[in-house]
Amino acid sequence: MKNALSVDVEDWFCVHNLSDVIKKEEWTKCEQRITINLTRILDILDEKQIKATFFVLGWIAEHYPDLVREIDDRGHEIATHGLSHTLLTQLTPELFDEELKRSIQLIEKSTRNNVIGHRAPSFSIIEETYWVLDILAKHGLKYDSSVFPVSFHPDYGVPDAPLGPYKITEKVWEFPLSVVKILGRNIPISGGGYFRIFPYRFIRYGIRKANLEGRPVVFYLHPWEIDPHQPKVKLPPLKRFRHYYNLDKTEQRLRKLLDDFQFTTIREVLDL
Ligand SMILES: [Zn+2]
Repeated sequence: MKNALSVDVEDWFCVHNLSDVIKKEEWTKCEQRITINLTRILDILDEKQIKATFFVLGWIAEHYPDLVREIDDRGHEIATHGLSHTLLTQLTPELFDEELKRSIQLIEKSTRNNVIGHRAPSFSIIEETYWVLDILAKHGLKYDSSVFPVSFHPDYGVPDAPLGPYKITEKVWEFPLSVVKILGRNIPISGGGYFRIFPYRFIRYGIRKANLEGRPVVFYLHPWEIDPHQPKVKLPPLKRFRHYYNLDKTEQRLRKLLDDFQFTTIREVLDL
């Protein structure tokens, strides 16, 4: 079974987990690591002959148009990760509409295909923000991949969401972030911090289980997660753990994952 591979294209300082320490106005003053890290991921994917979906932040498309062109030239799918990495719970429908439109314009300046997919910052499509779905359709988007079927996280989660791809509205597909049910609880196996914190064997078990149950998974990764040399900032213990744990092991684990399973773009898995 083919699974979907996705990369959220943002730099280390764009992360919500660091937003108390680094303000948006300071982003341009931070050490930029996106080019080196993204190029590394593109090289690994070329080596493994795998195509992926890249959810590009509008801010990145604005500051690094050549990087977006490079992703496009290498044959990957490009989708939107919004404009400013503001959680949807902090935006009004009007502001979201404007930010989404701008992000698509910025991305499409450097790509050949139209954007058809969206991922919200920090998976912030929860029941209270389902109003975004009609706005996605209004801008021609065909799928979203932001719903996380978990109940334990303070910022995100739709505990009773379906576990495989489904039509969340008449016009929009949802590819929920992948979990497996173990002892009645949904456990994430889909990437990011979970990929760095859980043993690789568990991730492999989870993906195999989902595939055996007939569901493709969507895996996600951030360029800064393969970068143990990024600048370190002072964070409270839990946030520090989430951001910095096992950064030096991610690339090696990613290579294993790409050898153990078949991956392609979300667009291809959903057949859109
Ligand atoms: Zn993000």
